[in-house]
Amino acid sequence: MPTTHRGEARAVLEKVLALERERGYADRAVVGGLEKFVARHAPEAAHLVAGYASRDAAGRAAAVDELVRWLRSPQEPLSAIPVSRLPGVGKRRAELLGRLGIGTVEDLLTFFPRRLEDRSGPRAVREVRDGETALVEGAVRAKSRVKVRRGLELVKVALDDGTGFVFGIWFNQPWVWDGIVQGERYAFYGKVQVRYGEVQMENPVWERAGLKQQTGRWVPVYPATEGLTQPVLQGLIRRALDRFGGEIVDVVPPAALGRLGLLPRREAIARIHAPEGPQDFERARRSLAFEELFLLQVGVLGRGGRARRGRALTPDPEALKRFVARLPFALTPSQRRALEAVERDLRAPRPMLRLLQGDVGSGKTVVAAGACVMAASAGAQAAVMAPTEILAQQHHLVLAELLQGLPVRVGYLGGGLGRRERRDALRAVAAGEVDVVVGTHALIQEDVVFRDLALAVVDEQHRFGVVQRGALEAKGEGTNVLVMSATPIPRTVVLTVYGEFAVSVLEEMPSSRGAVRTVWLSESRRDEAYREVGERLARGEKGYVVFPVIEDSAERDLRAATAGYEELRAQFPRHGVALLHGQLSSEEKREAMRAFRDGRVQLLVATTVVEVGLDVPEASFLVIEHADRFGLAQLHQLRGRIGRQGQPAVCYALADPATDEARERLSAFRELADGFRIAEADLRIRGPGDVLGTEQSGFVSRLKAADLGRDLPLLERAREEALRLAEGGIPPELSREVERRFGEALDLLGV
Ligand code: ADP
Ligand code: MG
Repeated sequence: MPTTHRGEARAVLEKVLALERERGYADRAVVGGLEKFVARHAPEAAHLVAGYASRDAAGRAAAVDELVRWLRSPQEPLSAIPVSRLPGVGKRRAELLGRLGIGTVEDLLTFFPRRLEDRSGPRAVREVRDGETALVEGAVRAKSRVKVRRGLELVKVALDDGTGFVFGIWFNQPWVWDGIVQGERYAFYGKVQVRYGEVQMENPVWERAGLKQQTGRWVPVYPATEGLTQPVLQGLIRRALDRFGGEIVDVVPPAALGRLGLLPRREAIARIHAPEGPQDFERARRSLAFEELFLLQVGVLGRGGRARRGRALTPDPEALKRFVARLPFALTPSQRRALEAVERDLRAPRPMLRLLQGDVGSGKTVVAAGACVMAASAGAQAAVMAPTEILAQQHHLVLAELLQGLPVRVGYLGGGLGRRERRDALRAVAAGEVDVVVGTHALIQEDVVFRDLALAVVDEQHRFGVVQRGALEAKGEGTNVLVMSATPIPRTVVLTVYGEFAVSVLEEMPSSRGAVRTVWLSESRRDEAYREVGERLARGEKGYVVFPVIEDSAERDLRAATAGYEELRAQFPRHGVALLHGQLSSEEKREAMRAFRDGRVQLLVATTVVEVGLDVPEASFLVIEHADRFGLAQLHQLRGRIGRQGQPAVCYALADPATDEARERLSAFRELADGFRIAEADLRIRGPGDVLGTEQSGFVSRLKAADLGRDLPLLERAREEALRLAEGGIPPELSREVERRFGEALDLLGV
């Protein structure tokens, strides 16, 4: 860490104390007296010299001795000082603070207010309106106290500001009666209610005019207080700042702060708890947010850059050319760019770590196939891991087709293989008789051994844990990793969570993809949806009906899906209806998919197993039952299953949402077609914690000041600064700070 304030202050104080001793404790060592000096330069020790000037010589000597002892004691980091060390924090309060996650002085100082309340300027009573929240200031002209009934006492205080009267009213708060003195000036802050021509405030915040703690300024509001009141919390934080504020240590290099016009940590923390106004508050918040993002980036870069040994592959350029030439379509420009990037990565001696992002239907599979061709043509093996068996089987089919006629042998390794099939598959993989293996988690089981795994492709990365990705990676040496995600991840999240990945984005949709029309219907209009479904079936079209299956009510939900299936089968007896869900046997699943693909079945009733990656291009309609029970990203994924050839397609979302959030989600789903805008809406509606998987949200919840929903520009600057710093090597004390604050979170991410 850069030199600490406390370090410098200590050195000076040592000298001052020596001088004070020399001069016989005359309190002449510094101008203004020792007490003032200590209060300014070592506030955390101020209590040791309280009342120094008025003590006798022995008392002064004792105080100086104590200060010296304090100075020589090892520096205790604020993160090691329990809050109970603060005056005013007893057992009960320590417990309440504990519920807010506050155990140490550092926790308390970094418990940031969420917003500010404008209690700065008083308003004239004559001008305030019913319903608004205002500050008024005036003299108390009268107060009364009435027992309304047993257990209900009312204190009423008339405040006069010269333009009119405001009546403050408190219920069962006898201390108000004692605290407010008639004739004195007070400030009230609260919601104005005009009743019977009287301007009233119920339970207003009050204090003596001019005190400027709860009124007469902008007051920070803390997110939760757990039984502590806002003023109590504010008071504790003020005390912690007075006593320990000087010990807050700066983290971000001053040069970076200078370039961004941000405040050092000590000042930012002091300001955010006592800002002059909104601008001051935001500057402090930005400074603290920047620090968090900067540390994270340092962590992500520092750890990601750790030397993973790799090797340079030499793919045969002819093989890729032949693969591309045989495709039934031309690659989109971004598919081409992604393949070029992958080729560069494979040829480099460092292992590839690349995230391929593309909306549903943007054509990621082709890129994966191309990558496999390159690996195989270099004489090595590739593995493609998918999160569900259905998807793995489909990938197997599609890859086998795409790679047909090329010298690339494709194998399958998933659940649902017989003992003998599995044994044969394992043997072929180990012997190198298979170049590309497609499968599920089965790929990472211990008995799976590759002859030479050089490329691991992980589809729908967010469905896997980091551990699983790592396990696949570990099956080769210096394995190149390509992870694919159709969940469009907002850029802020990519930079934090996938900070060490290179990113390729598939920007455009292949061919002229027709937009899917989305209709949101109340459940009472279900019949209309199915009438249209009937018409479509009659025209020979195919489509899906999807039921939610939520984990904790899986059984009941599955029954609903099954019942729905029976009904639909009765309703459309001539069109072929099949049921697909996760608990069917592999053979049953395969059969349902096959029947749907080749047209014997036109209507596939399914649970969310179809959400991910299912590719039956002719499907043109989708009914989502209880659409309010799906997440926004999930809805978007489902909708991506239809209209995949550019044919007109329609999605019916049946839902009567019960919450505002669900309503917002469905409107966003109906209005937005673009995956990235959907992801942003999702982030806005739910907040980042919920948008990401559990591991990733654990990470995001460490952010106290930064907001991934809106701090993208700041994040980009943080990355620049972290890169700049990393060039010259990351100072060890900074790495320690990163580990201390974000180490666990980085571990979770497997960074
Ligand atoms: P996703 O990105 O969702 O995994 P897929 O890889 O399943 O998308 O591709 C969606 C569909 O688009 C597939 O049917 C695929 O064959 C087709 N496709 C992929 N690339 C192109 C292209 N460049 N031109 C036309 N169709 C393409
Ligand atoms: Mg896919």
